[in-house]
Amino acid sequence: MGTSLPNARGYFGDFGGKFVPETLFDCLKELEDTFGKSVKDPSFNREFTQCLNTYAGRPTPLYFAPRLSKEIKPGVRIYLKREDLCHTGAHKINNTIGQILLALRMGKKRIIAETGAGQHGVATATVCAKFGLRCDIYMGQEDIHRQSLNVFRMELLGARVIPVTSGSQTLKDACNEAIRDWVTNVKTTHYLLGSVVGPHPYPLLVRYFQSVIGKEAKKQLRSREERLPHYLIACVGGGSNSIGLFHPFVHDKKVNMIGVEAAGYGLSTGRHAASLVCGEVGVLHGARSYVLQDADGQIKTAHSISAGLDYPGVGPEHAYYKKTRRAHYVAVTDTEALRGFRMLSELEGIIPALEPAHAIAYLPKLAKKLRKGNICIVCLSGRGDKDITIIRGISQKK
Ligand SMILES: *Cc1c(COP(=O)(O)O)cnc(C)c1O
Repeated sequence: MGTSLPNARGYFGDFGGKFVPETLFDCLKELEDTFGKSVKDPSFNREFTQCLNTYAGRPTPLYFAPRLSKEIKPGVRIYLKREDLCHTGAHKINNTIGQILLALRMGKKRIIAETGAGQHGVATATVCAKFGLRCDIYMGQEDIHRQSLNVFRMELLGARVIPVTSGSQTLKDACNEAIRDWVTNVKTTHYLLGSVVGPHPYPLLVRYFQSVIGKEAKKQLRSREERLPHYLIACVGGGSNSIGLFHPFVHDKKVNMIGVEAAGYGLSTGRHAASLVCGEVGVLHGARSYVLQDADGQIKTAHSISAGLDYPGVGPEHAYYKKTRRAHYVAVTDTEALRGFRMLSELEGIIPALEPAHAIAYLPKLAKKLRKGNICIVCLSGRGDKDITIIRGISQKK
């Protein structure tokens, strides 16, 4: 399992593939070939690592959280992989650096991307500024209203933000528009996808770039504890920070992997973003995976308090891990996530983004299973500054 997947056609078991218009086939092939050559090229990997270290602030610390550990269960050791300390405040920069280096190798002059909350848009605009490429970001009109500060950030970085007014005017509609743009401009343009979703080879290459999270964590834990962790826990939107943490441990059979999805208002309300826990198999944005859909197979609107988890699909590799039971998937509600948010802020002096607050919020539920001496690594995928106004709004309403 693992390193040999996806297969040559981009499948993880039954999941993945390339469900795209014919016009995109050639450029997906170009991307696949460029990626295949680059990963075997030491100079590419050197440049990637150098950029991560000198620009993105890697390696990020693996922090032992003593007060959080004690609160969850005395004798348990919880470590946080501090992706919140990356440049731009989240793990997304790992992938945008990797992909822009590929785009440069392909001689592309322009980058397009989709964004929901704006985090991926900001990470993309950042690397475009650094490398001097044109940058157009598709963003739903609804999200533009909700996340005006990130729109301003992208513009400061020299990107153009293109409002999307179709459908629910959110992330999935922004993806549709970005794909439409790509079809017409494939020669000059690279579509810089933000998670381990989409058609092959995206799930493969985004995993490659994000696996730096798990590789570092494994090495750091080995030098601290001289052993593997018992549990890996990460939030799952599209699934990139979780795959990044999980993948280097896939062959370590004793390491339990738990992906935490957003249960929004509660799974029974139907207003959530738990594609793996509650979805069905379908095709979304070029790949077969679990998706939230209605009886006609139309994609439902996802809901989560955290914009980064608010996506009705999930990467195909997670679908495969669910099916083969290599990883387990759970969901926590908005209210529980807010509790996780406060817990980490007050116990460790670390204000997390609302996305990883979901992973933190699962810890009290996991506590029953934890035994003395158990070691958990939680991926702290991003910092909470972007969510402060949402939290303040909720506090004031009370
Ligand atoms: C975007 C985002 C996520 C969700 O995306 P994944 O691809 O599932 O990692 C999680 N955390 C933060 C901080 C994000 O910005």
